[in-house]
Formats: sequence, structure tokens, C-alpha cells
Amino acid sequence: MDAVCVAAARPNFMKVAPVLAALDAAGATTTLVHAGQHYDPEVNDVFFADLGLRPPDHHLGSGSGSQATQTARVMTAFEPLLDRLAPDVVVVVGDVTATLAVALVTAKSEARLAHVEAGLRSGNRSMPEEVNRLVVDRLSDELFAPSPDAVAHLRAEGVPEERVHLVGNVMVDSLLANLGRATAGPTLEDLGLVPGTYGVVTLHRPANVDDPVVLDRLLDALGRVAERCPLVFPVHPRTRAALGDRPLPADVRPLPPLGYLDFLAVEAGARLVLTDSGGLQEETTVLGVPCLTLRDETERPVTVTEGTNEIVGRDPERIVAAAEAALERPPAPHRPEGWDGHAADRIAEVLCRA
Ligand code: UDP
Repeated sequence: MDAVCVAAARPNFMKVAPVLAALDAAGATTTLVHAGQHYDPEVNDVFFADLGLRPPDHHLGSGSGSQATQTARVMTAFEPLLDRLAPDVVVVVGDVTATLAVALVTAKSEARLAHVEAGLRSGNRSMPEEVNRLVVDRLSDELFAPSPDAVAHLRAEGVPEERVHLVGNVMVDSLLANLGRATAGPTLEDLGLVPGTYGVVTLHRPANVDDPVVLDRLLDALGRVAERCPLVFPVHPRTRAALGDRPLPADVRPLPPLGYLDFLAVEAGARLVLTDSGGLQEETTVLGVPCLTLRDETERPVTVTEGTNEIVGRDPERIVAAAEAALERPPAPHRPEGWDGHAADRIAEVLCRA
């Protein structure tokens, strides 16, 4: 079995690492392609080191740009490589734009297309990720779903039953494999943080950071939450650009984007997380840390029904009230089925037997 695995951006690396390792262990021949959506080393190189991910065998060098530019560049660079490699299967993960581009090229080739994290739906097509999810799933031959709601979406969209596999969550594979190492390291001490005494913020979705009015309202809410619980804020490069020279509220402490192990240590020690990230909703559920999602909907509803996540939107009053409640009453989470550290093994088993 000859597999090409593709990763393009920060949230992809922790999903690809366990899949690549499981395919290698199952005896597959693997090729790692970096589709190069972000070139910022802060959200790139450190992840290879932290996750023990080998250097990419091929780099598409597609850079950034508008949605259409990125899609076209990745497609144009990936097509000749795929022709040359002629694998049995191409494995894509998540919902970034490079995932869509690679899926479009693969669907018109001889190779099978496998999508890891299939079936997630927010219902909000104004997010590019949702469009990417819909198209990639429509084109995929093997769809690996992290939770029963994702299976239900695929079924409702008419995907044949035999293509859909409920395997659990590969991001949790990486989390469980690396948590011990992350928390044993000196990260919290180096940052002067005491576990259980601070909250963490991450923001990078265009709907939250690109509109200055929305961003100012969110900063106001964060400042009010920080009066009760000081916050650390690893600032994504996109958000740094949006913030410009705006001052952050008192007790909202900016940090550079953190490497994977440093971030896990900070997240695991937090009393509260406020975020618009998809991955953090899942990680906080497994870590048992209360999570307030600063969006109007989620494509990961099990993190609400079984985990520690609450969808609170962007209204400062609601955010502050939810934070106060979460600080008073920490949740009692339940880890969703299959979020057990072995999702990638189940994926490799399906791919190697097909
Ligand atoms: N993360 C990280 N450093 C940071 C912020 C996040 O390593 O400063 C990790 C986090 O633990 C999670 C992933 O990045 O595994 C989430 O990526 P991101 O929020 O960029 O994307 P999304 O999940 O929203 O697609």
C-alpha cells in the first residue's frame, strides 16, 4: 500500500503525525507532502520537531494568497507530483484550503482519496472551512469520521455506508501521546504561570479578527474576564496583524504563537479557555478544561454535549457571564467514544485492508 499524506498548516500537523506513524507501522510505503499554506516558522517548523514528524518528502511551496489563489497554486503544484508518485491512496486531513485543492486533484486521478475528520458540519457556509469540508467529503472514497454526528451528516448527504468509518479523533491521538512530555517540561515555569490560576485565549477566525468593531468588543470582554482570571493570549500571526498597535486590556498578556508542546502545557494548566479554534474545543474536552467558544455555532457538537465546551458567540455580556459561571462550576466532562489515542491505528487498518 502506497500512501501520500498531505499537511499544509498548523492544525494539520497534529492530525497527520499519528496517521503517518500508524501507516508506517502497518507496513505501508508513505510519502509526506507539505502543501505549504503558511510559511511563518512560528506556526510551522516547531511542530515537526515537537510531533517527531519527519521532514516532508516534497514541498509544494504554494505560499499564501486569496482562497482562489491558494487553491489554484496547490492544485497546479500537486498534479504533476501525484502523476509521478502514482500512489494507491492520498490522505488529506481537516478543512484547510489546501485540503480542498489536493482533494480536487486526487479525485481526477487513479488514486483513492481518504479524508480524516470527515463529516463535520457547522452549517455556516460563510466560513471557507465549511465549503472545503462539504466538497472534500463529496469527493472522498474513504471517510474517517471522529464522532457519531459526523457519521449522521454523511449518511444524510447520501454517502454510501461502506465508505464511512467511525474511527475517533486523531487530534486526540497526538494530545494523549504528547501530554506527559508537555507537562513534564519547564514551559509553565519559564512563562511564570501557576496551574489553575490563569485562562488562555486564542483567536484567529476572520469573523472575529478582521472586523475592528467585533475585535474591540471581544477585547472588551476579555478585559472583563481577566479582572476575575488573568489571561494569556498566544497571538496568531493573522491576529497580530489585525491588532496593529491596539493595546491589550490589563491582565490579558500577549505571547507569541507557541509550539505544540508548550501550548499543550499551557492549555492543560488553564482554568478556562476562550477560543474560536476548532482543535481547542476538542483538546479542552479531553483535558477537562472549561472552553468558551467565541462563535455562533460549532462543527464539533460532541464537545458541547459530552465535553466542556459552551458556544457563547461574540456578545461581551454573554461571554463575561459564561466565564463567571464556568469559573464557579467547572464541568464534569465525558470523553467521547473513540477519543482514546488509537484513531490513527483504526484508519491504517481500513486503508491497508481495502
Ligand atoms: N496550537 C499551538 N500553539 C498555539 C495555538 C494553538 O500549538 O499558539 C495548537 C493547538 O494545541 C491545536 C492546534 O494548534 O492542536 C489548533 O490549531 P488552530 O487553532 O490554528 O486551528 P483550528 O483548530 O481552528 O483549525
